[in-house]
Amino acid sequence: MFAKPLNKSYSVFISCATEDIVIARKFRQSINQIPQYYGYIARDEPKTFEYPSEKIAQVLDACRAYIILYTKAGLDSPMVNQEFGYYYRRYRNQWGKKPPIYLVKDMEITGHVDGFAYAREPILLDKTLPHGAISAVLWGMHHQYSLKRLEIPCRGHVVNVEWPDFHFVENAATYHQTLLWKCPTCGENVEVDPYTFQIYDEKEWSPWNNPNA
Ligand SMILES: [Zn+2]
Repeated sequence: MFAKPLNKSYSVFISCATEDIVIARKFRQSINQIPQYYGYIARDEPKTFEYPSEKIAQVLDACRAYIILYTKAGLDSPMVNQEFGYYYRRYRNQWGKKPPIYLVKDMEITGHVDGFAYAREPILLDKTLPHGAISAVLWGMHHQYSLKRLEIPCRGHVVNVEWPDFHFVENAATYHQTLLWKCPTCGENVEVDPYTFQIYDEKEWSPWNNPNA
């Protein structure tokens, strides 16, 4: 069993500790809105005796980007370390354009980062409000692979829209505005978060409902 969504060709591996699975799924939800791309979380796959399993190794061999949730739990997780070790071997030996590694680092981890993440420029993660880190990954992917479109879910179908202009999105985020598209299928407006491009179905993730903001 391998949860590869229909019509999706390119995987993005999301490496995380079990404690960070909710955040990882938020990353996946945004990645899944890129046509052709899907986020893959090994923790959400059936458990196997051997690690990484053949299936996970295949995804690590073929993925177009690697996201690592570098939190205290991630740092302590043998699975995260194994996944990174496996991926990094591939990365190091690859010629030409290498699939990017997005080191998403918990803001609470201060100071110098040792070991596998050494010398990599981190994306800072606020675990209570991960939308800024998700946005940084999405825009990194956009530039790396010249992404042109998004697929936003709308009432059981998807709206295929042009990737929005960076300054337009930045402005919307600054002024706590949403992005709106008119769905050609049902005629309704689809309203999304300017950071993650996700629809507002879970209010606690919305920037203006964050008690720490
Ligand atoms: Zn619609």
